Amino acid sequence: MLTQNIQTNHVSENSSPESCPALVLNADFRPLSYYPLSLWHWQDAIKAVFLDRVNIVSEYEQTVSSPSFDMRLPSVVSLKNYVTPARYPAFTRFNVFLRDKFTCQYCGIEDDLTFDHVIPRSKGGTTTWENVVAACSPCNLRKANKLSKVAKMWPSQQPYRPSVHQLHANGRHFPPNFLHESWQDYLYWDTELEP
Ligand SMILES: [Zn+2]
Repeated sequence: MLTQNIQTNHVSENSSPESCPALVLNADFRPLSYYPLSLWHWQDAIKAVFLDRVNIVSEYEQTVSSPSFDMRLPSVVSLKNYVTPARYPAFTRFNVFLRDKFTCQYCGIEDDLTFDHVIPRSKGGTTTWENVVAACSPCNLRKANKLSKVAKMWPSQQPYRPSVHQLHANGRHFPPNFLHESWQDYLYWDTELEP
């Protein structure tokens, strides 16, 4: 495998290449995916460069070296061939929290969040966008396996399957923990520019 013999050059930089993922853009220079954000491990990014599947858009200071070459790790790559993006985000824990803005859908607090099935599983409720909401542990315990009308607890909004666009609108308020500076031009590109 191409990248097996690559040694990271720890002389030039202290941070580990493990903390240097590449942001993957589609051929139109928008992220391939927002939720989850399309990131590749540095080895996959370099492999794709050598397979001529991506262009390097931006690089880290961090370099890697092998007997035959030295190169800086890509921080942003763009696909050479356009891939039709998914219209709907994946049904994941993070994305449900993001849809619900990390707040309990019953009481509105933002701590100790878990999930609640609006129609309990014991009553045939499914684990889907349309039946799962963010809920704090106390509300989740209080509602238990009761229907909303029995528990007198209704979610503040009817759960729904969000579009990528809807999640993206919420995502601006809850950016990922790690955003390399070179990614900023490609994320939140539709936010208002400073005058
Ligand atoms: Zn609550």
